[in-house]
Amino acid sequence: MAKVEIDKKSGYCFGVTRAIKKAEEELKKGTPLYCLGYIVHNALEVERLTKLGLITIDMEQFKQLKNARVLLRAHGEPPSTYEIAKQNNIELIDASCPVVLTLQNRIKKKDKETNDSTQTVIYGKKGHAEVVGLVGQTNDRAIVIEDIDELDKLDYTKDIHLFSQTTKPLDGFREISTEIESRMQKSAQFKSYDTICRQVSNRVPNLQEFAKKHDIVFFVAGKKSSNGKVLFEVCKKSNPNSYFISNPKEVDISLVKENISIGICGATSTPKWQMEEVEKIIKSSKPNLYLDNSETF
Ligand code: SF4
Repeated sequence: MAKVEIDKKSGYCFGVTRAIKKAEEELKKGTPLYCLGYIVHNALEVERLTKLGLITIDMEQFKQLKNARVLLRAHGEPPSTYEIAKQNNIELIDASCPVVLTLQNRIKKKDKETNDSTQTVIYGKKGHAEVVGLVGQTNDRAIVIEDIDELDKLDYTKDIHLFSQTTKPLDGFREISTEIESRMQKSAQFKSYDTICRQVSNRVPNLQEFAKKHDIVFFVAGKKSSNGKVLFEVCKKSNPNSYFISNPKEVDISLVKENISIGICGATSTPKWQMEEVEKIIKSSKPNLYLDNSETF
């Protein structure tokens, strides 16, 4: 008999759950609801909400919109978005995650307190919606660093304040922080603020354990999910037989053999229903291989 288990700790984080719930509530009101950018980096979930009436628009379309209702997703937005909404009589349904809003305020406050020569540095992905929102708090002065190779662009004779995008890996942040510290000149000060969201980083030890206890792992996440990429790497390191799938239909059934245990897990942007779908596909493809559900664990 084979076994299959869905990781109970995988799936939406608090911020994404909140944004999806807000969208569903607002959609029930019946008037058109726009969403600035994809509500979550998960194509199938976006498709589900589109069917319920959610209209996804990009920044250019947002600028043209007037007298409408627009939902802001969990990633948060820069001040310029709120300005445009005000000018165009747009009602904002702000589903920015409170953790991101706190980080935005922190960056804004620090940036205001410091002098012009202080470099505000954000460890994050250039162009990622959350990072755009964070950089916006500094009038676009902040410098975005994606990895340690980019540290040459900083001036170590001047003060540096380092922050992180909420979904970056903790070890990457620590490595960058240590490297910057070692390069600082005596005349300048370095401050490092670990602003990584524990909703993500706390999943790492759990995922490592989960991946190790199964023969193969199917990791479900949207192709564009940053957090999905980070957490999949964690899985893969713990269990080389880990497979990334962005749609339950991508499950390679030939990998499912007798007497193996299969783990199904995902990112903070992966809805539970997609992991359940994977389980269903596996079980229905090879029904004679499975005990009925994961009670055997
Ligand atoms: S990962 Fe953390 S900061 Fe990002 S949306 Fe989820 S709860 Fe909010």
